[in-house]
Amino acid sequence: AVKRTALIAGNWKMNLDHLQSIAFVQKLAWSLGDAKHDFTTVDVAVFPPFTDLRSVQTLISADKLLLTFGAQDLSEHDSGAYTGEISGAFLSQLECRYVIIGHSERRTLHGETDEVVAAKVAAALRHGLTPVICVGETADDLETHGPSAVPVAQLRAALETVTSAADIVVAYEPVWAIGSGQAATPQQAEQVAAALRAVLTETLGDDVAAKTRILYGGSVKSGNIAGFMREPNIDGALVGGASLDVAEFSSIARFE
Ligand code: PEP
Repeated sequence: AVKRTALIAGNWKMNLDHLQSIAFVQKLAWSLGDAKHDFTTVDVAVFPPFTDLRSVQTLISADKLLLTFGAQDLSEHDSGAYTGEISGAFLSQLECRYVIIGHSERRTLHGETDEVVAAKVAAALRHGLTPVICVGETADDLETHGPSAVPVAQLRAALETVTSAADIVVAYEPVWAIGSGQAATPQQAEQVAAALRAVLTETLGDDVAAKTRILYGGSVKSGNIAGFMREPNIDGALVGGASLDVAEFSSIARFE
């Protein structure tokens, strides 16, 4: 079996301005350094607001930090008359490695459809960014369709134009678990992660399915991360609230 490098990803959402982002990343690097964090086995990535990216890039490159970073969204277009939008070209010039796509807050608060998500995934890949494709069911979906149907359909739609060579990350984030303090159980998350890996096998083949990281997200904290990391199809976590506390996020990165 292929060994997948774990990924602990911190989605800051609309928190921490560019000055706060510098202090935060410095403290996080110290904390991981103190813990002798092994970046060859666990990647740690932060996802700051757009206006922080240049500061984070400068700090990471000046101090040769092993942390990686990404953006929380991008435009499906490359340039032009799209006021307020951010191109994937700009993000890759800033050395973003990843970009979150289809977060449930984008889907519900900004009306992003499966088609928009697929177009954004294509845009990310055009610019050499690794999309972190978010899928997940609401509490109503869970009741009506069971655990895997909606995330599976969302992933199939997001992969519409993806070819087998692409580097992608999938994040399973049940909407009812995001910011609710009520995480899925490791068994629930594993069941859906296995179904999502089956979609990867079916659409992109065995090799891609074996190497693609599937994250769990939804009320992850230091007290519950270890259970998720023991599951065979879960390769890391997308962390919201708990990623804003250096000690807590650093401890999640050690699966403590
Ligand atoms: C998220 O928004 O991606 C998330 C998982 O949030 P939280 O960890 O706060 O539930």
